[in-house]
Amino acid sequence: MKSTFGEYGGRYVPDTLYSALESLEKAYVEIRRRPDFRKTLGGLLKDYVGRPTPLYFASRISEETGSQVFLKREDLNHTGAHKINNTLGQILVAKSMGKKRIIAETGAGQHGVATATACALMGLPCVVYMGEEDMARQSPNVYRMQLLGATIVPVTKGSRTLKDATTEAIRDWLLNVEDTFYIIGSVVGPHPYPTMVRDFQSVIGKETRRQIQSLVGRLPDAVIASVGGGSNAMGMFYPFIKDKTVALITAEAAGKGLDSDAQAAPLLRGRPGVLHGAKSYLLQDNEGQVSLAHSISAGLDYPGVGPELSYLKDLGRLTLDSATDDEAFAACGWLAKTEGIIPALEPAHALAVLRKRTDLKNKIVVVNISGRGDKDLGTLMEGLSHV
Ligand SMILES: *Cc1c(COP(=O)(O)O)cnc(C)c1O
Repeated sequence: MKSTFGEYGGRYVPDTLYSALESLEKAYVEIRRRPDFRKTLGGLLKDYVGRPTPLYFASRISEETGSQVFLKREDLNHTGAHKINNTLGQILVAKSMGKKRIIAETGAGQHGVATATACALMGLPCVVYMGEEDMARQSPNVYRMQLLGATIVPVTKGSRTLKDATTEAIRDWLLNVEDTFYIIGSVVGPHPYPTMVRDFQSVIGKETRRQIQSLVGRLPDAVIASVGGGSNAMGMFYPFIKDKTVALITAEAAGKGLDSDAQAAPLLRGRPGVLHGAKSYLLQDNEGQVSLAHSISAGLDYPGVGPELSYLKDLGRLTLDSATDDEAFAACGWLAKTEGIIPALEPAHALAVLRKRTDLKNKIVVVNISGRGDKDLGTLMEGLSHV
């Protein structure tokens, strides 16, 4: 299995983790071909998660934008986001390797909830690292994880968000690598995580391909996904990469403005660098120090992005775009009032991009609604009271 995507990806880790990652790669390569593994995962995705998720024709939004808009309803998954597709896959790999303890990092809390859920289902203990700032922004998810039996470790270092939570999770893994499996929540981290997570999330794009063919008899002109680490985007894009007529549009978080310091758009504003074990586009200052990211959406508030997306950008295969905090906020209310669907603030960035791109008129467009908005109600209500 290739460990890099062009110059990106790789395995920039200490020796102890290097051999653990080699064992993981070996286990994954072996298990993913096994019919019993596919059957177990397929069964869980169907009966536990509720897949396939619908591809819904949004007629009122289509009328307004002049595009034919289809929404991939990952918000309808059990636990309310796409993250569960990946955590169930990884926990089956962990079990096959005989691991006894699961750790994870979380930003918005969605990956923490999805991991705690998978652990409850499999009867494995679960420790989740979460930045203090994110714990405050996403308190319902903190309670959810606790109810599911997970131990939450508040991270008080640095910016107290996802980047620091990830650093602490890696530290735990270094100390407990024998019996512990680290479930990473996006297409980031050292090889084989970006490949493995992309494989597990590709169910989104595979279903979409089949569904759009049967709904309109052809492939879409464009698919749009929000980009934090890039797992819902890669999951949607991967099955369409070879179809050159399908534009792959990324919606990064422009925060308070792309040219301000308060943004989270490494594909648009980063430079190649190494973070958390892999090389990718990265927000950094002139000395190469990793910059703080900012987004209203905790799930997008990360200075790095997956290596495969970095590579696709260099190949010119991506159409790069972004939405500000305000645009995402407005798009969230727009979908709620127009279609009766309250999206999470992350996919609201994808909707905001749809809303402002005039080149999508008369086109068939799929927007990946990666999660539902319940977890963001606090942030949304605070914003509403300022209007
Ligand atoms: C975590 C999350 C994201 C961002 O992560 P990706 O790996 O980029 O997909 C987007 N949407 C939702 C709903 C999330 O929970």
